[in-house]
Order: sequence, then C-alpha cells, then structure tokens
Amino acid sequence: MRKEYLNLLVCPECKGKLQYMDSEKQLKCMECGKKYPVIDGIPVLLSEKEAGDVLRDIASYDSPQ
Ligand SMILES: [Zn+2]
Repeated sequence: MRKEYLNLLVCPECKGKLQYMDSEKQLKCMECGKKYPVIDGIPVLLSEKEAGDVLRDIASYDSPQ
C-alpha cells in the first residue's frame, strides 16, 4: 500500500497519527496505541463503537417508518 496515503489517516479515537507496522500488517496509533487491521491493503479504521453505529444505521434504513 502507498505509504504517502498513510499520512492522511488519523486515529478515529483520538485523531492521533497512525503508523503502519509492516511486521504486524496493522496500523498503530502513535497517540493511544490502538491498532487497526489492514485488509487487502485497505485500512479498517472503525472503532467498535462506530462499527456498531453503522450497523444500527443500516438496520434502521430497512425498517419502515
Ligand atoms: Zn488513537
């Protein structure tokens, strides 16, 4: 993956800088130490809370008003 692209990424938790850990194939936040997986070159930056919010949003779209 392009390393320059990583400079645009920040931690969704604390807006800290992320660094790609080659050995772990993960992004690590330099501020809070949280780690995010990189799947097929795509960084997955959703926190558990945000992932839950997204799932609730999707569920609410399906339900009739
Ligand atoms: Zn962070």
